[in-house]
Amino acid sequence: MLTCKEAEKMVMPYIDEMLGEEELDEFLEHMESCESCREELEIYYTVSVGLRQLDSGTGVFDITGALEESMDLAWLKVRAARLRRIACYAVGTLCTTGVLVTLILQLRIWWQTGWKW
Ligand SMILES: [Zn+2]
Repeated sequence: MLTCKEAEKMVMPYIDEMLGEEELDEFLEHMESCESCREELEIYYTVSVGLRQLDSGTGVFDITGALEESMDLAWLKVRAARLRRIACYAVGTLCTTGVLVTLILQLRIWWQTGWKW
């Protein structure tokens, strides 16, 4: 679990989409459970997205909604990463099991045929 200080340091990287999947995971978990960091994120997000919009002149839009959307997307990314890790693990286990089973079957064949070399 992140401390508030650690989470605070990740706010700007989050907005710039610079967080890795693991960091993003921890960051989002913290934002779900910590009201004060969540408020901090909202303020930073509003300011930085607002400024960027002034720069690009895209006009007014729903910044709080955009943050919600951004966090939904981030969650999706984290979930996809989790799924990928589980899938990798499952495939790895399957491969290992497959090799082991083949080896055992092969040994049984050798044993049954009386080790004819
Ligand atoms: Zn916090």
